[in-house]
Amino acid sequence: MLNLAVLLEDTAREHPDRDALVLDGTRLTYAQVDEAAARVAAGLAARGIGRGDRVALSCPNLPSFPIVYFGILKAGATVVPLNVLLTDREITYHLQDSGAKAYFCFEGTDQLPMGKAGRAAFDAAPGCAHFVVIEAGPHEGSAREAALTLAEFTAGAPAGFDTVPTQETDTAVVLYTSGTTGSPKGAELTHSNMVQNALLSNRLFGTSPDDVHLVALPLFHSFGQTVQLNAGFASGATVVLLPRFEPGAALSAMEREKVTFFAGVPTMYWALLTHQTAKSFDPTGIARNLRISVSGGSALPVEVLKSFEERLGVPILEGYGLSETSPVATFNRRDQPRKPGSIGRPVWGVEVRIVRDDGSDAEPGQPGEIRIRGHNVMKGYLNRPEATAEAIDRHGWFRTGDIGRRDGDGFLFIMDRTTDLIIRGGFNVYPRELEEMLLTHPQVSLVAVAGVPHPSHGEEVKAYVIRAPGATVTEEELIRWCKENMAAYKYPRIIEFRETLPMTATGKILKRELSAPH
Ligand code: AMP
Repeated sequence: MLNLAVLLEDTAREHPDRDALVLDGTRLTYAQVDEAAARVAAGLAARGIGRGDRVALSCPNLPSFPIVYFGILKAGATVVPLNVLLTDREITYHLQDSGAKAYFCFEGTDQLPMGKAGRAAFDAAPGCAHFVVIEAGPHEGSAREAALTLAEFTAGAPAGFDTVPTQETDTAVVLYTSGTTGSPKGAELTHSNMVQNALLSNRLFGTSPDDVHLVALPLFHSFGQTVQLNAGFASGATVVLLPRFEPGAALSAMEREKVTFFAGVPTMYWALLTHQTAKSFDPTGIARNLRISVSGGSALPVEVLKSFEERLGVPILEGYGLSETSPVATFNRRDQPRKPGSIGRPVWGVEVRIVRDDGSDAEPGQPGEIRIRGHNVMKGYLNRPEATAEAIDRHGWFRTGDIGRRDGDGFLFIMDRTTDLIIRGGFNVYPRELEEMLLTHPQVSLVAVAGVPHPSHGEEVKAYVIRAPGATVTEEELIRWCKENMAAYKYPRIIEFRETLPMTATGKILKRELSAPH
């Protein structure tokens, strides 16, 4: 019997008065968070929602996210966190696909306009019976049912709630991901998957109750959820919430709250480094407290790693994983030598294979698909047995769709996703290699490389570049520079300068949208 909510409950028992959550001036202790979550659980139980049911949650990084998340878990139900940037049509799809019985939704406020009301989405999903407004936005009116506020939903609930016992193989969280192909699928992560991944994060980073996490990663995504919220709660740390990543706000929060632990995707590190006030910022003030920072979600360019470490004197540990692997699968370790550009080695209890097209294991240095087996691998995709069978073979190996290689010391390197690989005139070109190289040019600030259709080569290599402030480098100069530094078949033939690059809510560059008109 295991329930992910135990991570919060144990800490609330041991450190009831310690700060669990901080948002601007508001602080909530572990006892307060546990108590508020218990009221959500009681509200759900009173409406007959419990073990085996799914409940959707769309909320930015506000205290309500963890409160509702752990409330749903305490009720024995499964949480379905939704990306806060989804449109109504997409939300309806997720509500219906997951068969959610209730939908907790933050509708946006003047300070935090999230754009979407969610009511229309709920109205179009008749199977979902309850709509609970976490904070009412400017949009009004539901066609189907008067919405309840969170306070109304939990009103009258008795203090305290006995967490519904669940099996460790019950699904704790369903995380929607597009995976390698197709429409979003719900990865079913069990209580065991999630608890083990949070505990191993703490072991990896040596976290303690004295740690202060700055959570800029959106909590609906597995990275922030496991490595910061769940791991932070498990260790009794204080979790500082940033509802929207903005480099200036992140830097001030680091200084003000004496943040010790920061986790981000590479574009966040890039934004912190290039933020205009960063120059005037006193990095030593931040570095005095910051002891560890971690990166994942996409490839951390070596140039960004080096600049950040030089600037702050704080190591960035890079790791790798997917929603389907809870997410942590490999990491560079703080207590062992690291390799810049590498995603480290598999974490405890997790095995990694590099598999060639013919199904055999690749030799060290040779590329192949990364496959993962261990306690972190999801149960499967919700209601999609064929997709599950395609993703996880009968020996339990999960196909990631990422191309990687292993060096002689067992360190793993991601070369690219299979879908991002460019095939130019029959040669494989790994965009990542070109991006790393272009970033070493002093006048290049950010870059994304992608394939564009070409009549005779099949695909041509194109680089989308954000120039460094004040830089004047031209397309010809950059092409010449690449030509001097790499083999003829792979250097980019086309360079397009941009002011911004399209990114997901989690800060990954959206390669598929690069060719769209902007
Ligand atoms: P998600 O399911 O949204 O967490 O996305 C997982 C994908 O992110 C993986 O399949 C990789 O393509 C990518 N990814 C995660 N971590 C890294 C990393 N350190 N380097 C390169 N790609 C990464």
